[in-house]
Amino acid sequence: LSTNAAPTDDLVVFRSEGDDRKGINNGEPWKVLVVDDDEQVHKVTSLALSDIKILNCPLTFIHAYSAAEARQILETEEEIAVILLDVVMEKDDSGLELARIIRTEMGLEAPRIILRTGQPGYAPELEVIQNYDINDYRMKSELTRTRLITALTTAIRSYQQVHTIQRGERGMRQIIDATNAIFNSPDYESYCRDVLHHSSSLLGLSGASGILMMEMRAVGTGGNRKNLYVNGASGDYAGYADFSLEEIPDTSVSEMISRTIQSRESLYDNGRLCLYIDSNEGRSGCLYMDIPQMPDELVRGLLDVYAVSIGIGFKNISLISQLNQYAYFDQLCRLPNRTRFLLDINALETGGEPYFVAVLDIDNFSAINNALGHKNGDLLIQAIADRLANSLPADYSLARIGGDTFGILGPEAGMHPSQLVGPFERPFVIKNTPFPISATIGLARLEGRRFEGVEVLKNADMAMKIAKSSQSGPYQYYSEEMAHSAERRLEITRDLHPALSRDEFVVFYQPQIDIQNNRLSGVESLVRWVKEDGSIVPPGDFIPVAESTGLIIDIGKQIFRKSCRQAAEWKHQGILDFKVAINVSVRQFMDADFISGLKQILREEEISAEHIELEITESTLMSEVESVIPLLEELTNMGFAISIDDFGTGYSSLAYLLRLPIQRLKVDRSFVMNLEDDERARTISELIVTMANNLGLLTIAEGIETPGQLDFIRKLGCRDAQGYFYSKPLPVDQFDEWLIQFKKTGGIT
Ligand code: C2E
Ligand code: CA
Ligand code: CA
Repeated sequence: LSTNAAPTDDLVVFRSEGDDRKGINNGEPWKVLVVDDDEQVHKVTSLALSDIKILNCPLTFIHAYSAAEARQILETEEEIAVILLDVVMEKDDSGLELARIIRTEMGLEAPRIILRTGQPGYAPELEVIQNYDINDYRMKSELTRTRLITALTTAIRSYQQVHTIQRGERGMRQIIDATNAIFNSPDYESYCRDVLHHSSSLLGLSGASGILMMEMRAVGTGGNRKNLYVNGASGDYAGYADFSLEEIPDTSVSEMISRTIQSRESLYDNGRLCLYIDSNEGRSGCLYMDIPQMPDELVRGLLDVYAVSIGIGFKNISLISQLNQYAYFDQLCRLPNRTRFLLDINALETGGEPYFVAVLDIDNFSAINNALGHKNGDLLIQAIADRLANSLPADYSLARIGGDTFGILGPEAGMHPSQLVGPFERPFVIKNTPFPISATIGLARLEGRRFEGVEVLKNADMAMKIAKSSQSGPYQYYSEEMAHSAERRLEITRDLHPALSRDEFVVFYQPQIDIQNNRLSGVESLVRWVKEDGSIVPPGDFIPVAESTGLIIDIGKQIFRKSCRQAAEWKHQGILDFKVAINVSVRQFMDADFISGLKQILREEEISAEHIELEITESTLMSEVESVIPLLEELTNMGFAISIDDFGTGYSSLAYLLRLPIQRLKVDRSFVMNLEDDERARTISELIVTMANNLGLLTIAEGIETPGQLDFIRKLGCRDAQGYFYSKPLPVDQFDEWLIQFKKTGGIT
C-alpha cells in the first residue's frame, strides 16, 4: 500500500467480519474442496457430512475430479478451508504433486490439506507431509463419519488460526505502509489528509466520512487550556474543518468523541468507530469514522496499533511545526519574526502596485519596561501586537522584528501611514493602569519587481530613527537624502573624538537684552566646531551625534569650562553685570557625576555659580520627572539660575512646572518666528508670558529678528529678548566690540 494506493486494495484483510453471534466464519459455511477421481468418494463424503456444523458453521462442498481441475478451482475460489485430497489420480502421485503446487507455486498457505489414499502402499514420505504442510494423512477406509468430522474439525480450527494470522500479517503490513506515509507527511495538512485516507483504506472503504481531532492550545489562554479542534475531515464531515468540539453540529458525533477522550479508549458502536489517539506528550485526540459494520476483534486490535502510529505521527508533525515556529515566529506575540518578515519581503509580488514596508517602534519602551517590570512589559507588547493586528487590512502582514519593533507590509493604497498610529490613540491598560503609549514609524516604498528584504528594512529603520530624532511627526518615508545625512552622521561620529582632543570646540556668545530697560541681561554661550581647515560645523549637526555616542559629557564639560573661564575674564575686566547662560543636554543632566563636575570647574576657574544660568530643555525636564526636582534644587542651592529652553514645544503640565525651582522660561523660536502672521503663535506666546508673569518667572523670547516681533513681545510683558535683531552669536573678541557699540548707542550693562 503506497501513499496513493486505491483504497480498495486488499479489501479482504480489514473487511468487517460481522458480529460473533453469526458464528466464527461470519455465519458463512466452511468451504471444503473434495478432490478425487472416484465419483463414489464424492457422494459418500457429501452424504456423511451433509447436515453437520463445525465451529457453528455448516459445510459446503466443491468437487474436483482431477488434480488439474482442482487447481483451476483453487485459482478462482477464495477462502477454501479444507481440501480432501486423493493421492492417486491421473498419476500415482497426482495428489502429492498438487499439494506441492498449492503451497509453493500458488502460495496458498491457509487451506488445510487432508490426504486420502486407498492403499497403504502409497503413503507419502514424511518429508512431503512436513514440507507441504499437510494436515492429516488417512486411509480412505479409516475415514468413518466420526473420524472424518474429527479430522475436519481439527483442520478447520487450524485453518481459522492460519487465516487469522495471515489477515493479521497483511494488516500489519498495511499499517506499516500507512505509518510510513503519515510519518513522511511534509506538513500538518497532508498529515491529516493521509491519516483519513489510510484509515478508510485499512477498513476497506473508499473515501469514508471521518474526523481527526487533536487537542490544541486554546487561543488567548496563554497555552494553559487545551481544546479539541478538527484537524482533518473527510466525506460527509468535510465542512467541519477547524471546528472546535462544541461547534460540531452533529451532537451524537461530538458526544461519542467526548466519551472517547474521557475514557481514553477506542469506542465502537452502531456503524461508527472512534479511535482514541494519545500523542505521547499530554495531548489526546481521536479519529472518528462512519463504518458499515462492526470490525472483528482482529481488526480492532490492528486499529489500536494504527492509533499508536497516528499519535506518534502527530507528535512528529508537531515537532516539525514547532521547529518552524521557533525559526520563523515570535513566541511572545505569535507573529512572524524578523527572519520570516525578510523572506516575505523577498518573495513579494506587487503586480506593479506600490507597497510599503513600515517599521513601527514603540517610543521610550526601555524606560516603560523598566518601570513596569519585564513581565508587564511583555503584556504591553502583546496588547500592542493585538491592537495592531486588528487595525490592519486583511491583506497586510504584521511581524515582530525586534523587542519593541513591529514590521508591517502592505499595498500603499490599503491605508495611509498616519492610520498606523491609530491603535495608540487610546492608552493601553496594564494591571488596571492606563499607559499612554506612542510609536514612531519609518516607511520604505516598494516599487518595481524584486526587493531585498535586508535593504528595505534598513531604509525603513533609518527613516524611523530620523522621524524619532526630528520630532517632525509620527512617521517618515525613507529618501535618498536620508542616506546621505546618515553618511554624514557616520563621518561626524568618526571625527568627533579627535576634535575633542585637538580642542576644536569654540564657544560663541549671543547677547540677551532686557527689552523693558535696554540693558544687557545675559549672554548665551553656543558651541561651534571649527575644523582644522577653518570650516564651521553648526551644533545642530554634531550635538545630536555627540549625545547619542555619549561624548556630549566630555564636550559639555569643556564648553562649561570655557564659558566659566570667559565669565571670570569679564568679571576680572569689571563688566560682568550679566549672566552667562550655558546649554545643558539631557545626557549631561542625567549623568551621575554632573554636579561634582560643575563644582570642580567652578572651583578651578574661580567663578561662582551666581554668574551662571543653565538652559535645560523642556523635554529634558519632563523625561525623568521624579529625579529632576532634587537635582534642580541642588543646582539652585549652589547658586545657579535655571532656565527652561525651547519652552512651549513639550507638553509640561502647569502643576508640575510650579514645583520646579526655576527662574526663567525661554519662549521657543518657532512661536517668535510666526508672531507676525500666525494667530496661534500669538496666542501661545501670550499665554506663556502671562502664565510666567503670574508664577513670578522671568521670560525671554529667542530668535527675535524684526522690530515687529520685538514690539509684540515687549507689549506682551516679556522682559528679555535674544536674536539676530541684536546680534548673531559671536566669537568673544567680536562680542566685546559689539558690547562697546551697544553701550555707545545707549545700551546699559
Ligand atoms: P538653542 O539653545 O535653542 O540655541 C538657539 C539657537 O538659535 C542658536 O543656534 C542660535 O544661533 C539661534 N538663533 C539665535 N537667534 C536667532 C535668530 O534671530 N534667528 C535664527 N534663525 N536663529 C537664531 P545654534 O547656535 O546653531 O544652536 C543650535 C542648538 O544647538 C541650540 O539651540 C542648542 O540646542 C544646541 N547647542 C548649541 N550650543 C550648545 C552647547 O554648548 N551645549 C549644548 N548641549 N547644546 C548646544
Ligand atoms: Ca539655548
Ligand atoms: Ca532655544
